Formats: sequence, C-alpha cells, structure tokens
Amino acid sequence: MILFQLKCTSDHRFEAWFRDGAAYDAQAAAGTIACPVCGDTAVTKAPMAPRIAKGRTAEEKRAAVAAEVVRQLGELRRTVEENCDYVGDRFAEEARRIHYGETQARGIYGEASGEEVSELREEGVSVAAIPWLPRTDS
Ligand SMILES: [Zn+2]
Repeated sequence: MILFQLKCTSDHRFEAWFRDGAAYDAQAAAGTIACPVCGDTAVTKAPMAPRIAKGRTAEEKRAAVAAEVVRQLGELRRTVEENCDYVGDRFAEEARRIHYGETQARGIYGEASGEEVSELREEGVSVAAIPWLPRTDS
C-alpha cells in the first residue's frame, strides 16, 4: 500500500491509499478518485509536505564532535594496547631506561603524573599524554 497526497483542481488536498503507484495511475485515469470536498475527479498528486531540514543546533554539533573524539580515543587506546607493553606506574622509570638505552627500545604505556611527564620531556624523552577514557567495549 502506498499513501499519496492528492489535490483536485480547486486545490483541496487529501490523502488516499493505493495498492501501488500503478493502481493510482489507473484509478486517476479512470476518474474514480474523487475529491472528498467537491467531488472533482481531476485529481493530481500533490507533493508531500517536505520535511523541514533543520540544521543541527550548536549543541548537537558539540555532542557529535565529542562522540567522535571519544571514538578516536578508543581506537588509539586499542592501538596502544595491542602494540605497546604496559608498565603501569613504572612508566617514567621505564621510559628513561629506554631513552638511555638501558633496556630494549619498544613502545610502552602506563601511568605517569603530569610532573613526571614534564621531567621526561625536559630530558628529551618523547612522551605522549593521552586522555585514557574508561572502556566502553568491555
Ligand atoms: Zn476539491
């Protein structure tokens, strides 16, 4: 079944159900569809009221951006977890050992305080601070 909005020559608009588009064409051609207001059988399809395409509000845009950031951080987290060794709170210590060649060079991740990160950076150790969000996929 398909719903068409129709209008007569006097511009009365009404809706009617048809089995399909062809059924509408046949009935319209046969003049069996009559306007419920004036009985006019010269009806045509009226354009359906267009959906109002309202732009997204600033609020919705912010929410979309936030959701995207969260998604990317989740991906980043997975990538890090799959490719790096977790060293927990020994991060600063381990990063230094790698930096000074005292242990095998590899990607590591773990927890470090802001102070530790600043110290590492001052020593020239490359460190990335990533906001670690709680897992949503567990
Ligand atoms: Zn009419």
